[in-house]
Amino acid sequence: MTQKVAIVTGAARGIGLAVTRRFLAEGWRVVMVDIEVEALLAAEADLDSGDAVAQACDVSDPVQVRRVAGVAIERFGRIDAVVNNAGIAVFKPLLDTSYDEWSRVLAVNLNGPFLMVQETARLMAETGGGAVVNIGSISGLRASTLRVAYGTSKAALMHLTKQQATELGEIGVRVNLIAPGPVDTAMAKEVHTPAIRADYHDAIPLNRYGLEEEIANAVFFLCSDRASYITGQTLAVDGGFDAAGIGLP
Ligand code: NAD
Repeated sequence: MTQKVAIVTGAARGIGLAVTRRFLAEGWRVVMVDIEVEALLAAEADLDSGDAVAQACDVSDPVQVRRVAGVAIERFGRIDAVVNNAGIAVFKPLLDTSYDEWSRVLAVNLNGPFLMVQETARLMAETGGGAVVNIGSISGLRASTLRVAYGTSKAALMHLTKQQATELGEIGVRVNLIAPGPVDTAMAKEVHTPAIRADYHDAIPLNRYGLEEEIANAVFFLCSDRASYITGQTLAVDGGFDAAGIGLP
């Protein structure tokens, strides 16, 4: 049987590494993409799998993104799924957020998924279609303090997901977004103060942070044939936070 191939961005650690592990466990091949070269190579070595290949790339750079798509085809001959997971967070009040911070967050969180899908959609279509999962956030579902750049990038990514799904359906490419609630990764450790952590526990019906593997399970489902009629959707994987309708801490 043909081995399927996924490109996973932000794969050096956190949710992206968990997604990579999940694809490998399901027998897929993975092109692991990250801007942090040392961490990426360490993750690749640790996985110790002939089915995983690391590619250093800044997802906001069109030239580097095009190179990644080329490497996937050269090495593995096809692309069946793209997981746009690479992201950065700046948690600051609107009036303290610099233009450079705003621009960089949008460049990585929004331009990255735009570029990656432009470069890979036709390649996926050539081998029968494929699936894209964009990683958004519950911060894209609710406005809140501290998240002017991050929340706006994730809300825009939700709309980009609908645009991509609408235009790419006819070439057999499905596109969905997962909006995780808080997950205790390096990113959360950096931006979640003790006060934010305590408030999240109260606001989430399941009363806990999510696990990286719980996000990876949902990503894999949406990339699999089990989700063959699902496109253009947002799936919150958030312990019920969105359903409870409480404001973000
Ligand atoms: P993380 O910081 O642990 O991992 C993100 C990875 O992306 C890192 O390895 C980083 O080097 C890489 N990256 C950053 N900029 C890049 C670029 N320009 N090009 C390529 N790679 C780049 O974060 P995480 O918590 O695993 O987050 C993964 C995704 O999940 C992000 O999109 C994030 O916004 C989203 N998310 C996280 C949480 C959470 O609480 N952790 C909640 C909701 C959504």
